[in-house]
Amino acid sequence: MSMNNQGRPTQPDMAEGTVKTFTGNRALMLEEPLIFEIGAAEETGVDFEDVPETESRLGGLERNQPIGLVGLSEPETVRHYTRLSRMNYAIDLGLFPLGSCTMKHNPRLNERVARMKGFADIHPLQPVDSVQGALEVIHDLGEWLCKLTGMPAVAMSPKAGAHGELCGILAIRSALEARGDAREVILVPESAHGTNPATAAFAGYRVEDIPATPEGRVDLAALEERLGSDVAGVMITNPNTCGLFEPDMKRISDAVHAAGGLVYCDGANFNAIVGRVRPGDLGIDAMHINLHKTFSTPHGGGGPGSGPVVFSEALAPYAPLPFVEKQGDHYVLIEEETAEDHHASSFGRMVAFHGQMGMFTRALAYMMSHGADGLKQVAEDAVLNANYLLRSLEDVLDAPFGASGPCMHEALFSDKGFAEGFTTLDLAKALIDEGYHPMTMYFPLVVHGAMLVEPTETESKDALDQFIGALRSVVERAKAGDETMHGAPVHAPRRRLDETAAARKPILVWQEPEQAEAAE
Ligand SMILES: *Cc1c(COP(=O)(O)O)cnc(C)c1O
Repeated sequence: MSMNNQGRPTQPDMAEGTVKTFTGNRALMLEEPLIFEIGAAEETGVDFEDVPETESRLGGLERNQPIGLVGLSEPETVRHYTRLSRMNYAIDLGLFPLGSCTMKHNPRLNERVARMKGFADIHPLQPVDSVQGALEVIHDLGEWLCKLTGMPAVAMSPKAGAHGELCGILAIRSALEARGDAREVILVPESAHGTNPATAAFAGYRVEDIPATPEGRVDLAALEERLGSDVAGVMITNPNTCGLFEPDMKRISDAVHAAGGLVYCDGANFNAIVGRVRPGDLGIDAMHINLHKTFSTPHGGGGPGSGPVVFSEALAPYAPLPFVEKQGDHYVLIEEETAEDHHASSFGRMVAFHGQMGMFTRALAYMMSHGADGLKQVAEDAVLNANYLLRSLEDVLDAPFGASGPCMHEALFSDKGFAEGFTTLDLAKALIDEGYHPMTMYFPLVVHGAMLVEPTETESKDALDQFIGALRSVVERAKAGDETMHGAPVHAPRRRLDETAAARKPILVWQEPEQAEAAE
């Protein structure tokens, strides 16, 4: 490992043929150490006047040791974070092909609205009379969601897709318990998103797989055969994670209902069908909607999401509190069960307050600026773009369900045809050198070396063509057995990492290099 002029480690092995620089930088790609390595606790970027000692008002609870934060000047701080941000990939930099994630452009109009003082600077414990506008936003967004899904009730508070799943499954459990019919099993298709079985298990259910047909859809016959008095319900993603619509959804719902169970739909892929299909018409009892996917609010890196859940008549009474209700011209918050109305059997709360206000405002701004027809076009264009990609690549990449007809919003490929020893991971890493974030890999599990690509509707044909060109090029290298791929990425800020060690032995705490050595 080499050191740069400030004694910091630089890239261990630079790409062959590149000239080693004094700084360790590669042109405008700048190395950047951790903030603890550039600043020091005893330094400060600001000149303080001598602050006179004053009597403490903390009654002995004041800090008696420095907290060890480093001191940096404003330009040093700005440069540090700007340099770090340039090592990242972002939707504002380029196409983000992650399947199942719906990484689309987030219109700046939404940001503008979310930052309005009346939405951004309020507190959940403020008197309701002083936040009527905010409650109106929550209420109206809920109405949009009910209308678009054809479902009668919605819980706005769940904070992400997985949280929404838990909300829906808890409602299903409450409904079953209320009729004295506790059941033990939730059926989940093989191709399900990992959060589905995790949610069912977390809620205390035993998870059983439903197999997929060779066409990548739920095996209806196998499902019907397994249904029985121990099955609480099913969790089905539609469109599914193979990027295909489940045409048997209504028959699946009818069969589950006939066997006394309830139907949870993972609605993370609603962006492919919004305005075209109403899940309520397919017999679904509960479905979460990822506002941060379908309705274009920012996500990634664990940032705030929002996962409202819509409910059928059967499950509406069990939905969690609180609710925003319109009474005359006034918006009220229903915070407790009210015996006489439809919230009589609420299972409780998912969170302390009402949900993600910033996401609500963004999502409603998005819906209102598109209108119902515009949202339908969003779905159609997302599906069109994915099919353009599928058909432009299937002569070089194996598309296992390509013959099943058009895909929905994402295209699925396998690693069939790669040269011996070349994997989906090699291809993904080579794609980084082409300036793209890789697609979703090795998911869904039903396809070998899966590559799931979701272009979204916000990409132009030119952007798609360039991405297709890059992908064709790396696929051809993988098929020809181009050994240089094993070393990819060579142009990124970091080379290929040891993913097993990163997962098994993560180093989460920064230590002085000497300390770290001593600890080994
Ligand atoms: C994204 C996604 C989820 C989970 O949503 P989060 O908001 O990330 O918790 C669940 N199911 C599917 C199919 C998804 O794509």
